[in-house]
Formats: sequence, C-alpha cells, structure tokens
Amino acid sequence: MTILPWLLPHWQHLCDYSDQNRVPQALLISGNKGLGKLQLATHYAAALLCTDRQQNGLACTYCNSCLLLKAQSHPDFIQLQPEEPGKNITIDQVRQLISRLTLKPQFDQYRVIIIDPAELMNNAAANAFLKYLEEPTERTVMVLITAKPTRLLPTIVSRCQKIVINQPDKVIINSWLKQHTKDKDVNLLLNLAQNSPLLALDYAEADTLSLRNECFEAWLNISLQRQHPVMVAENWIKLSAPFLLTWLTTWVIDLIKCRYAINAEALYNPDFKERLQVLVEKIEPKGLYELYDLLLMRQQLLETSINKQCLFEEILITWANLNLRT
Ligand SMILES: [Zn+2]
Repeated sequence: MTILPWLLPHWQHLCDYSDQNRVPQALLISGNKGLGKLQLATHYAAALLCTDRQQNGLACTYCNSCLLLKAQSHPDFIQLQPEEPGKNITIDQVRQLISRLTLKPQFDQYRVIIIDPAELMNNAAANAFLKYLEEPTERTVMVLITAKPTRLLPTIVSRCQKIVINQPDKVIINSWLKQHTKDKDVNLLLNLAQNSPLLALDYAEADTLSLRNECFEAWLNISLQRQHPVMVAENWIKLSAPFLLTWLTTWVIDLIKCRYAINAEALYNPDFKERLQVLVEKIEPKGLYELYDLLLMRQQLLETSINKQCLFEEILITWANLNLRT
C-alpha cells in the first residue's frame, strides 16, 4: 500500500493534521478525474481508523480496524454515493446518514464519512448536510470529494479544509506510468487519457489502444461509406460511452488541427496523423465545428441515463452526412 507519488505532498499535509491533533471535521478534496482523489481519501480514512498507524502515517493493515475496513464492515466508516449511476445523492440518504451520526462512534478512533462525488448532493441534500456541518458530532471526519468544486454550496466549501490536487508534473506521471505498464506507448496513453495517470493505466490494462484503433477504423469506414453508422452504433453500445466520446472528440479536434497544419506532436492522436490528413481534405470545416459542438453537448448528458444507441447513432449519422456533403 503506497501513496501515488504526485499525492505525497498532500499526504504529508494530512499526516500533519493527525500528528498535530487537529484533524479537520470536514475536508474537501478537489481535482480532475483520474488523479487519485478517492485513493487519497481512503488511505486517510484507514489511517484515522487504524489503532497502529505506521511511521509513514499509513494504516497498519493488520489491526482489528484495518481488517474490518478491508472486509467492508467497519461500523465507523461510511461511504455515501448516488444509489444508482447517473442519479443524485438524495436528502433521504443524507438524513439517514445524519441519524446514524447521532450515535457515538463504536470504537475509540475517529469515524470517517466519504462523500463522493460531493457535487451530486442535490439542493435539499446539500442544505441538510450544511445543517449537520453547523453542529457536527464528535470524532467525526467528513471527506468530500469532487472534480467540480464550483458546483458545491459556497457555505459548505467555506466550512471545509481544502486539499486541491493540481495536474501533476508530466515527468512524474510519465515515470510512474512506465513502471506500471510494460511495452506500452506511455506518451500516447497519457495523450489519450488527457494526462490523467490513473485513466492512462486503465487504458493500458484493458488494452484500450487496440480497441481504440478498431473504433477508429470503423469511424473511417463510415466516412468511406464502407460501414453503416447505425451498425457501428450497435457495436459500440457494449463499450464504455465516456471512453468513446472522449476518443471521438479528440479525433475531431485533431481533424481541425490538421486542417490548420498544426504539427503532429500537438495532436492527441499523432499515430493517426496521416489518415486524418487525407480525411480532412474533403470535409468542410464548418461541419467539423458543428460535430465538435454536438460531442461537447452529448458529453454533458453522460451523467444522465441516456440511451447509448441513440447517442451513437446521432453522432455517427452526423459524421456520415458530413462526409457526404462534399
Ligand atoms: Zn491498522
């Protein structure tokens, strides 16, 4: 169990809180997706619950508390998240949580609650939570996690100690990713993951590069009228919609960049440069911008329970028509 290298300064900060006996009642960890916010929160929770913390501040992994946590049955650890993907955290969930907190923690250590993603508390839930923060219970630490801190109530934010995880230095994430992936193109993985190291690692482990290449072939085939957009959409339903939308967006951005003869290193997909270059010659730039706008709008719908078949059909038919206009 180790702390990710780019999180070490933040970890030190958290350890200082414990060492100096000033553990905050509410902590807000913010930062982009794929930087390890939840991992940091979980390590901190484990350390606060552990009865035999190690010198580096990490939990011991063998005490009663650590074993209970590992078995997901620690009575003083609660993780609050939406009940279903795409839904909010509701006021009922927050009320239930608060009523549990009126009881004392079961053990002598702290009690830790992780709320992730905190911005998904709807208005009523956030207000109920704010009331709790005004009169918090003893030995209880709330850890809020968010990639979108501006969506939280300012009155909640102001009551939290803040840990802001910035985009790590590229040298650090590059060498970390090299240690964790074998024979992979680390730069390309990071490009595709828009510099998120954990997402890049997911890509490497799932052999996402070959999947992405297959999807790109299908996308090219649509432009050449060799594959029908509806058939491709049907094939894509079983794949991850956020991955696909990110890829499609980077292909379109790269097409626009190719149009303006920007050099290959500046592309998200430098390995597709030649094929993109051929493609862009026959497409109107106006249509590309329209497709780009459509992709951005549809990305916002990903958090809702959108029909994936319709989503991909709409995008791929727009793409097919764009190639017919010439
Ligand atoms: Zn322990």
